[in-house]
Amino acid sequence: MATTAAMPASVRKPAPVQKEDAMLLQKELINRNYRELATAHQTGRKVSATFVPGNLNELLMCFDFARSLPETNALQNGMRKKSGKFIMDAERDGQSEDVCTYVKADLGMMMGGEIGPTGEVLPKPDILLLSYTGCFTFMKWFELIRHKYGCETVMLHVPYQGEGKIAPNMRDYVVKQLKETVIPTLERISGVRFDIDRLRQYMRESQKAEDDLVAVLQSAKNRPSPIDGYFGAVYYIGPIFTAFRGMPEASEYYRVLRQEIEQRVREGRGPMTPEGEMTEEKYRLVVEGPPNWTSFRDFWKMFYDEGAVVVSSTYAKVGGLYDFGFRHDADRPLESLAEYCLGCYTNLNLPSRIDMICKYIDEYQADGLLINSIKSCNSFSAGQLLILREVEKRTGKPAAFIETDLVDPRYFSAANVKNRLESYFQMVKAKRDAAVAAH
Ligand code: SF4
Repeated sequence: MATTAAMPASVRKPAPVQKEDAMLLQKELINRNYRELATAHQTGRKVSATFVPGNLNELLMCFDFARSLPETNALQNGMRKKSGKFIMDAERDGQSEDVCTYVKADLGMMMGGEIGPTGEVLPKPDILLLSYTGCFTFMKWFELIRHKYGCETVMLHVPYQGEGKIAPNMRDYVVKQLKETVIPTLERISGVRFDIDRLRQYMRESQKAEDDLVAVLQSAKNRPSPIDGYFGAVYYIGPIFTAFRGMPEASEYYRVLRQEIEQRVREGRGPMTPEGEMTEEKYRLVVEGPPNWTSFRDFWKMFYDEGAVVVSSTYAKVGGLYDFGFRHDADRPLESLAEYCLGCYTNLNLPSRIDMICKYIDEYQADGLLINSIKSCNSFSAGQLLILREVEKRTGKPAAFIETDLVDPRYFSAANVKNRLESYFQMVKAKRDAAVAAH
């Protein structure tokens, strides 16, 4: 942690009590989950693996599965600087340079004896639940794991929103698969009978957490924004997008977090950063694309040092698009699980993504759009240049493009990214000044 004297003018030392309760609750949840995974087989529990977008966490909880999410393991390893070696091990084992680095980080971790991010051994999954929401890599990834462990796989095929909307037959198709394939398979593997009332109860908890998360993310409409909707939001979305949605502890986390953020709004305070509170908001941005994890802190610093706050990001919606009204609904449990999967950001077509970004720029009074294009993520990166041009045309706000990677430290060039960002901030300022002069 830097001293106050060394800090940029836009940042001041944190008030000691801020965010402490929510952060501690989250850390405890994550550590507990890794402990549960490590001990699952000794305690007679079965283990599921499933991906973040379109994850059916409430349903998996109905069968007492200990729940692992491979992308989360990869990013946790990335933040702890462990992923570089895993990726190189996977490449030496024959994986191409172009393969998604989450996959290679996961495969490398397996080759090293499945030591998870917290140092505990991750167990072999008993079931791979593939909820297919738009990324083809998901399918190949689980094929590789199935090949290695021979574990059972169940696939939920989620139709792509090619027309930009969810038609009733799309929802019915997903519900039919849940009833006829997914639930019977989960019953057989776990030995637990499905109880729809248990599912309803978890969904009630999900809804409370979803309401609070939306309030937290939308607090960025204030000036100054009390949160960073990209770097800070990574921490806010952690529990709800992973193994905790539907648990009372997750609802409690969001209740506490919302209280903390609402207090920041009342006090007119800016977002917390790793070096303290941002005191001067100079630029408000919308960001598209996932963050880089291996240099997460350095990357974030390039923004807050310049007084740039991200007021909204598409990445903070990758595990659920709650801000446009979707909520898990205990009165229509299977239908709402289907709608949740169908509505995932990765399952949206390009015009819908463009509409969403333009809406964010307008509603959050952003100065422009920044795209962080991930070298190895085809799902997010396809069409990003088109998104950039179209958003610029429709909003008149400047957009810029940088390229990094998720968990491969070889693809984060700090000097290049910093140069690009500094020129972008200058461009935003020049455009804003010109607009003021013209009025
Ligand atoms: S390609 Fe992108 S969306 Fe697909 S698994 Fe990799 S990081 Fe996730």
